Amino acid sequence: MQDLAEGVAHFQQGVFPAKAARFRHLATTHQPSTLFISCSDARVIPELITQSEPGELFVIRTAGNLVPAHDPSADAVADGVTASIEYAVAVLGVSDIVVCGHSACGAMTALADDQDLAALPAVARWLRHADVSRARAARAEPGEDKVGVLVRSNVIAQLANLATHPCVARALAAQTLTLRGWVYDIPTGAVDQLDPVTGSSAALAA
Ligand SMILES: [Zn+2]
Repeated sequence: MQDLAEGVAHFQQGVFPAKAARFRHLATTHQPSTLFISCSDARVIPELITQSEPGELFVIRTAGNLVPAHDPSADAVADGVTASIEYAVAVLGVSDIVVCGHSACGAMTALADDQDLAALPAVARWLRHADVSRARAARAEPGEDKVGVLVRSNVIAQLANLATHPCVARALAAQTLTLRGWVYDIPTGAVDQLDPVTGSSAALAA
């Protein structure tokens, strides 16, 4: 905890003053252009990867960057992911949603390796939202990196889940929203953009 307090002190004294005008503006303005959905993994920092400033990204982070598909029967269940998506799309009016997977994802590794999750019932339940991802990855060629294939197929499956949410479907139909699938490579910093239809990937930036 000491490290965090030191970090706050550094932020207040060494970082905040240079951006004070921006923070004053942000005190009454919240207009992010992008909803960024990434894994909770401590090594994946959306603002760092995209060099975004405060106020620019609305962020949801979940284990495995999973987005549960719309479930009309789940109204009584506390669902922070759905609520955040709805707020970002219907209220903030984001123009883009990025689902960003990453290399060496613990959630995808657990699934690719068929790890025993009996002692982690909540994790096991949550990872069922990646069932379609696993089915897609099952088509991987022998010898291919299992986790890497699952990470990519999972991003595409989660984009499909995202599109089942009524607010997202409406914005897509109105052509006011674009969905993007990315994969971030931790050791190199590379970011690939995935084609949701073909599953092919290409470097996002040189
Ligand atoms: Zn992860």
